[in-house]
Amino acid sequence: MQDAERTIRLQIIQACLDMDRRGLNQGTSGNVSARWGDGLLVTPSGLAYETMTPEEIVFLDMEGTPTGPHAPSSEWRFHRDILRDRSDLNAVVHAHPTYATAQAMLGEAIPAVHYMIAAAGGPTIRCATYATFGTEELSQNALAALEGRTACLLANHGLIACGPTVSRALWLAEEVETLSRQYAIARQIGTPAILPDDEIGRVLEKFATYGPRAKA
Ligand code: 13P
Ligand code: ZN
Repeated sequence: MQDAERTIRLQIIQACLDMDRRGLNQGTSGNVSARWGDGLLVTPSGLAYETMTPEEIVFLDMEGTPTGPHAPSSEWRFHRDILRDRSDLNAVVHAHPTYATAQAMLGEAIPAVHYMIAAAGGPTIRCATYATFGTEELSQNALAALEGRTACLLANHGLIACGPTVSRALWLAEEVETLSRQYAIARQIGTPAILPDDEIGRVLEKFATYGPRAKA
């Protein structure tokens, strides 16, 4: 195995362990993938993260044919479909964190109750229509909810967060969980105000140049 491939496999395992440490997941639920070559690397189904080795991460080609000692995540279809259809994305994180999943139980999008919603690409984080886990239908519903976005909720299930790297996708998953928690608390104490779309547009413009960068 090339060093570069081993590094990505280790990043996927690290992201799974980080999901647990950050309280983003329950047991072995959730899964992580990253684009690799003409396919993707994805976590195996139902395997404990603590003892997972780089060799146990499954390679899938874009037809969905697996290579590796274990079956791929039961959600390999949406991982494959997102990476196939979205050339802007290289990594996908799926988890069942408590507040995002509670919001997904309502089947409702998260509105622009905080400017950080723009981290997922627009003024809402949509909720994909419910379909049984692991199905083609769930994948189609997720792709529709992700249009123009990098994260969505899955009704009565959890969330998907994507990004250019595994660590960025994991970061976004945690942002969506935080936003869901803040929104849930705000709804308990009152009626949250919703920012207008043009304000989220301004935030998106500022995000393009936000963060540490070398001074000119
Ligand atoms: P896997 O263990 O097969 O990845 O599935 C967990 C899950 O979250 C299904 O939606
Ligand atoms: Zn799931």
